Amino acid sequence: MRKCEVAVLGLGLMGGAALSALLDAGVDALGFDPVAAGSDRGSSHGSCRIFRRFNFENPNYTSLSDEAHADWIRLQSESGQTVLTETPILEAGRPGSAMVASSRAAAIAKGRADPMVTAPVANKEFPAFSLPDDWDVVVQDGGAILHTATVMRLMRARAGARVIPERASFMPHHDGVSIRTDSEEFFAERAILALGPWLGRALPPLAALLNVTRQPVGWFAPGSPETVVPRRFPIFILDRGPDDMVYGFPDFEQRGVKAAPHNHGPVVGPDDWGPPASDAELRSVSDALAALVPGAAGPIVDRDVCLYTNTAPADIRRDAGEEFIIDRWPESRLIVCSACSGHGAKFAPAIGQRLARLATDPSYQAEPFFQLSRYSEFA
Ligand SMILES: Cc1cc2nc3c(=O)[nH]c(=O)nc-3n(C[C@H](O)[C@H](O)[C@H](O)COP(=O)(O)OP(=O)(O)OC[C@H]3O[C@@H](n4cnc5c(N)ncnc54)[C@H](O)[C@@H]3O)c2cc1C
Repeated sequence: MRKCEVAVLGLGLMGGAALSALLDAGVDALGFDPVAAGSDRGSSHGSCRIFRRFNFENPNYTSLSDEAHADWIRLQSESGQTVLTETPILEAGRPGSAMVASSRAAAIAKGRADPMVTAPVANKEFPAFSLPDDWDVVVQDGGAILHTATVMRLMRARAGARVIPERASFMPHHDGVSIRTDSEEFFAERAILALGPWLGRALPPLAALLNVTRQPVGWFAPGSPETVVPRRFPIFILDRGPDDMVYGFPDFEQRGVKAAPHNHGPVVGPDDWGPPASDAELRSVSDALAALVPGAAGPIVDRDVCLYTNTAPADIRRDAGEEFIIDRWPESRLIVCSACSGHGAKFAPAIGQRLARLATDPSYQAEPFFQLSRYSEFA
């Protein structure tokens, strides 16, 4: 039986970052995942994610963004590959938008100049947009296109032969965790479960706190291609009212403007990846582009589906849900990482560091807002 100090099950962005952190620290670690980098499965697949410094979801995340940013820049300079393409972030919503107000407050809390601009000023700066005059708008710096396909490839290459390209099952014991694949058995002193949407299936007591939803993504042939190129066009997030949020990217791949709804699609199982995103699923995005970003509006030319795994609202250290779980699993040598609720990609190296420390440093605790004990089931 092969032995190791730490096993990482699941090598999406979170497990991949944890394995990199462990290997960088000289830990005898192995990673397991049947899915290769570049596949169209797992919540980390696809070419890009939004990197935001100022997070409307939670002001605690600014320092997490800064920590991750330093790691992304390090990866970029060590690899010579483009990991981040700096891009302004435009966030806009109807008057009184809580999203815009929170993003603005997060920047001001860090001593930044007020990022609020009027809609006419934003429309002039970014001519693809036609935001109503009375909308609230912030234009933030510190944003970037995070090239996740590149990152996934670099992480796998970094781990090399430490990756076992197979599905793994696990069995916790008092002194470690036995791990089995179709071809081999392993024994690890500790195991990190970074199984994305499959986490609830692997650890049924956690399933009640995790909600897996189907998320359609589309690429739109822009009506005015010259207005949607990087540097002339920001990453954008539009808050059109309750449960109607749409985000998108500049056309940096010559594939069209990638845009998607951020509100939650239907609850599905972790293996429910088909069928492709339909026109109906992307209608709120088509409508938002036509009304608010006419330079980007146009026919759908490509489609994808991804899964969010959202946490339930916590009841002891209260939060509104859609946060992260990064903690040790009670009475075991397991460490769990939720798939970070549709906005975790940007933080992956910072989360990987936390997972590695939870596995190797008994005195370390993740921040209280990540801990399982914020839920009464685990208090
Ligand atoms: C449409 C969409 C848009 C998003 N946009 C953003 C964004 O703009 N900005 C942002 O910061 N975040 C964004 N996110 C969120 C971010 O992408 C996720 O938080 C992140 O990718 C989750 O990574 P993960 O490693 O936890 O999960 P995954 O990437 O799903 O990785 C889990 C891995 O576990 C493997 N696995 C499963 N079972 C087993 C097993 N038994 N043995 C071994 N391996 C197993 C799977 O093959 C998979 O590779 C978005 C997510 C989606 C879906």
